[in-house]
Amino acid sequence: MIRIAVANQKGGVGKTTTAINLATALAATGLRVLLIDLDPQGNASTGLGVVHGDRQRSSYELLNGSCSLSEAVIPTRVPRLDLIAATVDLSGAEIELVELEDRTHRLNDVLEKEGARWDVCLIDCPPSLGLLTVNALVASQSVLVPLQAEFFALEGLSQLLQTVERVRARFNPQLSILGVALTMFDRRNNLSTQVAEDVRACLGKVVFDTVIPRNVRLSEAPSHGVPGLIYDHRCSGSEAYMALARELIDRMPKEAEAA
Ligand code: ADP
Ligand code: MG
Repeated sequence: MIRIAVANQKGGVGKTTTAINLATALAATGLRVLLIDLDPQGNASTGLGVVHGDRQRSSYELLNGSCSLSEAVIPTRVPRLDLIAATVDLSGAEIELVELEDRTHRLNDVLEKEGARWDVCLIDCPPSLGLLTVNALVASQSVLVPLQAEFFALEGLSQLLQTVERVRARFNPQLSILGVALTMFDRRNNLSTQVAEDVRACLGKVVFDTVIPRNVRLSEAPSHGVPGLIYDHRCSGSEAYMALARELIDRMPKEAEAA
């Protein structure tokens, strides 16, 4: 099972939109995909149409050990895409987990034990570098970083990279950066273009060729409880996420490709 953390401690940079649409695009290629909502805001769960009443067993219960992965998993309307939902309870987990000796490995242990049903797991991280994000990084082989094509895009990135480095050194030697995806790119805006150039100059090949455009269809989709890719599979945003998924598959270890 390939596990990818979608992480950036800044809010509003496109983590959830990227996680939902990439998960959908990967499922469309035939892969069995698990999306774990690890943000107490639960946007990925809402965006996939899972209402609050259907989240009795969520990532919070999974982390505190009161349910198993198969008990928490919720099928979505997208074929081959399953979800572990999130609720606000998860905000308490950061504090509750601190007491536990295996606090950084909780998610990893669950996925090791029960994750074999899926080919790929995407983890939608919260906008912080606390224990939840650390759990995602410990449980993953790689990290995908959405970066908003706006001024200050690179600000805070060094902190994220430091956290990745620390997790690699202490807990998870195989952890690597899978790629950086530029999001909300506005081609009519010179600043967007300038930022994209700067980011590529600074980070080089780790930046995906595909750039996700700012696209109103992608932002409308969550209120309909479906991924942008289902809401309007022909809009520029959906096409970009399909292209990003192809790049991602090329960068993934080969055994995860669909049979
Ligand atoms: P994060 O998970 O990093 O906080 P989100 O994916 O929730 O970021 O995106 C923040 C907001 O921007 C949401 O309202 C989302 O619908 C919107 N959004 C994300 N990506 C795009 C895009 N490419 N075009 C237009 N709106 C977008
Ligand atoms: Mg989010």
